[in-house]
Amino acid sequence: MSAAQDFCFVEVALPVPMRRLFDYRCPKSTALIGARVRVPFGKQDKIGLITGVKDHSQWESDKLKSVVEVLDDTPVIDSASYSLLKWASNYYCAPIGEALFAALPANLRNGKAQTLQMIKYWQLAESLADDDNFAEACASIRRAPKQQNVLLRLKEQPCPHDKLRKDVSLAVINALTDKGWIEAIERVPSINDAWATQLDISGSHRPNVEQALAISGLNACKGFSPFLLEGVTGSGKTEVFLQSIERHLLNSQQVLILVPEISLTPQTIKRFESRFGIEVDSWHSGLTDNERHLVWQKSRRGEAAIVVGTRSAVFLPFKNLGMIIVDEEHDSSFKQQDGFRYHARDLAIMRAKELNIPILLASATPSLESLNNALTGRYQHLQLSSVAVSTPNSSKDIIDMRQMSVEQGISEQLKARIHWHLQQNQQVLLFVNRRGYAPAIECADCGHVEMCKQCDNPFTVHKSTQQWHCHYCGAVKFATRYCSHCGSNNLKTVGFGTEKIEEKLNQMFPEHNVARIDSDAVRSKSKLQEMLDKIHANEYHILVGTQILAKGHHFPNIAMVAIIDVDNALFSADFRGFEYLAQLITQVSGRTGRAGSKGEMWLQSSQPEHPLLQDLLMNGYSHFARTALPERRAAGLPPFHYQVLIRTEAVKIENAVGVLQELKQMFHMKQSVAQGSVQLIGPFPALVEKKQGRMRMQLLLSSGSRQLLHRVTHNFVDSLENSKLAKKVRWSVDVDPVDFY
Ligand code: ADP
Ligand code: ZN
Ligand code: ZN
Repeated sequence: MSAAQDFCFVEVALPVPMRRLFDYRCPKSTALIGARVRVPFGKQDKIGLITGVKDHSQWESDKLKSVVEVLDDTPVIDSASYSLLKWASNYYCAPIGEALFAALPANLRNGKAQTLQMIKYWQLAESLADDDNFAEACASIRRAPKQQNVLLRLKEQPCPHDKLRKDVSLAVINALTDKGWIEAIERVPSINDAWATQLDISGSHRPNVEQALAISGLNACKGFSPFLLEGVTGSGKTEVFLQSIERHLLNSQQVLILVPEISLTPQTIKRFESRFGIEVDSWHSGLTDNERHLVWQKSRRGEAAIVVGTRSAVFLPFKNLGMIIVDEEHDSSFKQQDGFRYHARDLAIMRAKELNIPILLASATPSLESLNNALTGRYQHLQLSSVAVSTPNSSKDIIDMRQMSVEQGISEQLKARIHWHLQQNQQVLLFVNRRGYAPAIECADCGHVEMCKQCDNPFTVHKSTQQWHCHYCGAVKFATRYCSHCGSNNLKTVGFGTEKIEEKLNQMFPEHNVARIDSDAVRSKSKLQEMLDKIHANEYHILVGTQILAKGHHFPNIAMVAIIDVDNALFSADFRGFEYLAQLITQVSGRTGRAGSKGEMWLQSSQPEHPLLQDLLMNGYSHFARTALPERRAAGLPPFHYQVLIRTEAVKIENAVGVLQELKQMFHMKQSVAQGSVQLIGPFPALVEKKQGRMRMQLLLSSGSRQLLHRVTHNFVDSLENSKLAKKVRWSVDVDPVDFY
């Protein structure tokens, strides 16, 4: 046999920022599409994935390197996942290798075996194997029913650590280990694939009329059908989820529920578990690599019935997926903001389409994108207009900041309301809207805001250049010290961060504890949990936080909520600023008055008569959203126009700008159809203009035609890959960007 017959060539996708595949020589007997390989790449070995096997290579075969090792004898990626990821990598202009590797759990990315890894289990200690000893032990902890329950549970069978922790605290586990009654072991998880026969559906509510309509709509659909469920907080959306997934589970089909990171609470999981009487798997960043690997395997073998997961759960390799639900579909945490920049909601739609299954997007405050799809009939529109269990509505009012003295963002009136509630021994919650990061410039005398006349958009201050920029059209103006309306030199920037507010509150109310909860606190999950526990225990009376606090968490003792800096969002440099604010206000007002008392909400603004704000307070989110749509259309903004953002970062600003200028020149030199229909805006600085010593610039592409925009973007990416100047900068492409940071 000749050597040529023993060898073939494989195309390998590697997790590197290059938009191409790499050819290697590989023994024929082990070359398998979808298998991982270890290959030499540069100075080291890398793990890659075989996407093609062939007899010839366009490269000279004696120059090609050979794979070091093929790691799998069964593919880690099936053809359905592959085709979704291939589509996604093309759509998002991302390297296929990055997309494929984003879909694999870390264990597999790192080259570990596909077979299940050992995880930590708890079991009874040897000493309790004896029935008498066991009974004695139980009797001795009669006063500690939680510990007793754990013993009884472990007597039946060992329990994975993660699962036990869902029900009991570490303190309970530690108490039992200290007594020497339970012990931790490492073992390969046992797997249950008989869930379909164990379903025990209980606790369903009899649906009200709107719920019944929604459920029957969902049950009647066949094949790919997208739905938008629009319903205020507490209107019974989750109940609709529960009842509509029933038929899929009874058919042995799996269900995926995507949720924003922050709303994934043990309560959500428990609610699903108690309704169906089976285990529900969760998928989020707090799991260990082995736990993720397990959920991945269970999904693939059809052994995970329901997975509730964040963003990247959209890639789980389900064997038999019956339905996808995206809860809080408007949430921007579904967008991956670095590396492979995908939108999990949009990929979920694509996945449902490929699998020909229904998908339900749900929100109290749908994104304008989804709402538009529903209003134009692309999605079926389901609505729940009233709360399932009535609670007193919260009052919502504006504090006119021009009318009173304001200390560091806290008005006299707000201070008085905080004081009053603290005296009643109630908690108050203050939001500082981080999205309004870039402040507007406002005249303290007349309230005038400096606007770009072309766009009716407030100018953003850029301190480094002493300039004002319009982020819509790229117009630049030198900063002036005088109000262009009344000539006063009393101009001020608007905006406060959480820390400043916290400091102020500590001064104002020294006898009360202030908890600050922002993304710094969330970075460590345990710290957040500790804070939340303390809030529940009433150890904090004043909470200051960002959007993080708006969702998922229920604080029964909060009687008042205030949004400190509504103006920042009113004049946000991001055209979605007001949409986000409207969502926040609506979600937040669902946080108050939960314990049966009427809640109170205050919005601080220097623009109390702002039409959007008035509309939102008088008519609610759904009216606001329906009015905002025609405005977006008129302004040529999403969802009617599509956008792509090209970002550059470099130590020297000339390089960051230069690369983008090069693209722009190239575009204008070429005579093409795209020219009239694709607009280029910029280069303009990112809202965060300098980060880690690098200057950040952006070029915005916008078009009413997705195809043309896509074509231009791909051309741009090609020239970026070949440009000498581009080698001096970091660049990235963001298709359908959700922010301009
Ligand atoms: P959402 O998900 O829209 O916030 P939920 O489904 O959590 O709403 O419902 C809010 C509350 O109302 C829950 O306590 C739920 O058990 C209850 N509920 C929902 N639907 C009904 C119903 N048809 N009858 C009685 N109670 C209901
Ligand atoms: Zn402008
Ligand atoms: Zn003025």
